[in-house]
Amino acid sequence: MNFDYDPENIFAKILNGDIPCEKVLESAHSLAFRDIRPQAPTHVLVIPKGPYMSADHFCQWASEAEIVDFMRTVGKICEAEGVEDGFRLIANARDHGVQEVPHFHVHILAGRPLGRMLD
Ligand code: C5P
Repeated sequence: MNFDYDPENIFAKILNGDIPCEKVLESAHSLAFRDIRPQAPTHVLVIPKGPYMSADHFCQWASEAEIVDFMRTVGKICEAEGVEDGFRLIANARDHGVQEVPHFHVHILAGRPLGRMLD
């Protein structure tokens, strides 16, 4: 791995228990918790426990066990939150992606019409 991960970022602090979160699910390699500024009735963040800054790093350097665990966690959240009417997964990355917290995370949004993103 050849990237600088900031171990002081907010999600690292959530992972080591320094900052609280509203936990939804925890697994061997992943944690899911509710976004503190929800943009929809369901707004859950899923993060890997490993030190990955963004989706590209996670997809390149995480182990298969971490990747499977992460995706299964996303699936379990979708099932538990009831996303039959539709949902959106978002993974912002770095400056152009307007990523606020430099620890890879996926937003799961559901519970209302979300509008078109790409035209
Ligand atoms: O994808 P991006 O990095 O822009 O989003 C970070 C998200 O983390 C925001 O939606 C913000 O509300 C959320 N957040 C949180 N708990 C914190 C700090 C940020 O849920 N303590």
